[in-house]
Amino acid sequence: MSVSLKKLKLKVYGLSPALIQDVLLSLEGRRLIKERFGVRYEDLTALWDETQWYSTAELEELQNEKLRLIVRHAYETVPYYRRVMDAAKLTPGDITTVADLQKLPVLTKDDVRRNMKDLISTTAGKGLLEGHSSGTTGSPIDILYDKNTAVAHNAAIWRNRRWVGFDFGTHPYASLLGRVIVPIDRVRPPFWRYNRPWKQLFLSSFHLREENLPCYFDAMDKYDVQALQAYPSTAYILARYLEQKDAYFPLKYVFTSSETLLDIQREVIEERFRCRVLDNYGLAEKVAYAGECQCHEGHHLFMEYGVTEIVDEDNMTVDDGEYGRMVCTGLHNLGMPLIRYDVGDVSAYKRTRCSCGRGLKLLEPVTTKAEDIVVTPSGRFISSSVLTHPFKPMNMIERSQIIQETPDRLTIRIVKRPGYTSRDTEVLLKEMYARVGDEMRVDVEFVKEIPLSRNGKYRWVISRVPLRFKKNAFKNLYE
Ligand SMILES: [Zn+2]
Repeated sequence: MSVSLKKLKLKVYGLSPALIQDVLLSLEGRRLIKERFGVRYEDLTALWDETQWYSTAELEELQNEKLRLIVRHAYETVPYYRRVMDAAKLTPGDITTVADLQKLPVLTKDDVRRNMKDLISTTAGKGLLEGHSSGTTGSPIDILYDKNTAVAHNAAIWRNRRWVGFDFGTHPYASLLGRVIVPIDRVRPPFWRYNRPWKQLFLSSFHLREENLPCYFDAMDKYDVQALQAYPSTAYILARYLEQKDAYFPLKYVFTSSETLLDIQREVIEERFRCRVLDNYGLAEKVAYAGECQCHEGHHLFMEYGVTEIVDEDNMTVDDGEYGRMVCTGLHNLGMPLIRYDVGDVSAYKRTRCSCGRGLKLLEPVTTKAEDIVVTPSGRFISSSVLTHPFKPMNMIERSQIIQETPDRLTIRIVKRPGYTSRDTEVLLKEMYARVGDEMRVDVEFVKEIPLSRNGKYRWVISRVPLRFKKNAFKNLYE
């Protein structure tokens, strides 16, 4: 869908009454079913149901086969790779296994930004879809992918959920993610909308005020929600509330993604929702997907979806058990192949095998940058993950950081790229106010660089305001 059409749709949605919004969401849901399911989805699902039981060696052979196709396709139709491989005096015949990938240079986010056009296959045509990386590094990036990749990604999501008996369309579930579902100035429920074809209750992440929370649970009850899809931080807000009320809300599963799941979060969420948390790792760039299974012994890397190398500072593979940077190669995107793409996260392969018996290798939990929670003056809790959304289209931002010193003020620090204009600031502020509302003042501060925190970690959001439910105040987690 073109960008302007997307914007128009969002605008129409924003101005429509609740009932019409339900209809619009359901229409969009139907369109997405066409885009992401169908025959190819069924085929891939059937295939992956078998391959997951292959031995690791067989899966690696499968990866090598797919890799050879991708590398040849990239060499023949993608100007960037033709250039890089010619310069290194390599032909597709030199890269026939995953181990051979080390002959190729790593593709950084900067490389992608600078060579955007040259990374698109000459065979791609007009039907490419757009993805924005979630920008928790404060440095967003756009990538394009073809329809097959959209299907493969969807097949990965639902394979992971089917592992715990949760298939598409079988049970209603709730999503508490970054999308603006109802207007920010809305003070009375409903703070949710229903996507009927998906049996999906969209909950607003921007109205999580203590007095509103009981009606969130009422809504989940009314729609007979069996699972919750959320960021660890948004699920944690609900779980902490239940804890404070000494209440429980039994579900079949809580599906988390997009942030590092902290042990304390898992503990409280599992206790209060009386179920296990199924954590997964995926990327907007669609080069890697990993998810826990019912045994919860690590994150199975979906080896049919992409190749993940764990590398040291020289971009050489490290031994299993050792931590390193994740460098990933997608095995499905022929529209804009990403080969040895440095995703900016850190993990390690586990030396152990999962007792479920699947041959898919296990990854340690991926450590991304720490997340934090912003608390507004009226007591709304806003996960930093949902605040990444205004930043996604901001290509002219090199790095960013959000600081909350007092309840009513946010400061956005920005390291500009050449080409950044005051129009970028305007758009960013408008999108921020659409999420935090007018109860907070948002300032932009331009800086030359953003220092790391004391432990050497980069934190995108730093809030110094404690999480305060009526009785207890919880320290913000990362202080
Ligand atoms: Zn397993």
